[in-house]
Amino acid sequence: GKVLVNDQLIERTEAVIDIEDRGYQFGDGVYEVIRVYDGDAFTAEEHLDRFLQSAEKIKMKMPYDKQQMLDFIDLLIKENHLHDGSIYMQVTRGTTSRNHIFPGNDIKPVLTAYTKEVERPKEKLENGVKAMVADDIRWLRCDIKSLNLLPNVLAKQEAMEQGCYEAILHRDGTVTEGSSSNAYVVKDGKVMTHPATNLILNGITRQVILQLCQANQIPVTEEAFQLEDLRTADEIFISSTTSEVMPVVQLDGQSIGDGKPGPLTKKLQTLFQEKIEAVKTQ
Ligand code: PLP
Repeated sequence: GKVLVNDQLIERTEAVIDIEDRGYQFGDGVYEVIRVYDGDAFTAEEHLDRFLQSAEKIKMKMPYDKQQMLDFIDLLIKENHLHDGSIYMQVTRGTTSRNHIFPGNDIKPVLTAYTKEVERPKEKLENGVKAMVADDIRWLRCDIKSLNLLPNVLAKQEAMEQGCYEAILHRDGTVTEGSSSNAYVVKDGKVMTHPATNLILNGITRQVILQLCQANQIPVTEEAFQLEDLRTADEIFISSTTSEVMPVVQLDGQSIGDGKPGPLTKKLQTLFQEKIEAVKTQ
């Protein structure tokens, strides 16, 4: 397929990244993952806004504006005939002789993007998944969607080894988010999720869910909750671009509620599905 390197669409086999790219050596860059439903990039503008914000937070000047990047996305979808899948996009601080200090203005950031066919996780969305709890050992700027994912990788690997889909992270007992998702509890008909501080990534799916709650009179608070609240929740779900609204039916081997996706989680899944379809018919 075709991939984007800076503003050039080329064959993937022709793409070359230097071994001294700062993304490769320092993880000095930021990224986004955007879902494509039926040939349309879902919430692309919100993702690109966050992409630009992540770049700004690491003091990197993005070489393209939002409209140019929207055009790149459209081009990638069309050229690769992508119907259902995702777009991965990242920008690094460029290629230069290895040195922690930022390069000068003559060194340009390196933007890369490619598409992938991915099916929606239908079976998991319907039956729910297992999760485990793990220590949140990440840095204090989790609001930046940075390339440095080692703690997330280690947590996800441990989850997989325990037969779990996700590791839900906590700092000293306060639940932050999943290793690659946001986390929610439902208690007495009320949805709770960690506020959008430096300790979590403010998910685009999270923002859609908060809007859906507000528009449909579902009580929701952005409030930190404890491991105890997680273990005794009526329902747990996680959210991300690829996992959508994913029910968690087992935590550390213990059933949550009756061990099936809960009513509020299912309601939000329906509303989310309607949102996907509404965007399509626009
Ligand atoms: N939190 C983390 C740490 C993530 O890596 C992700 C996405 O991969 C999310 C939350 C969910 O964000 P989004 O809904 O924008 O995909």
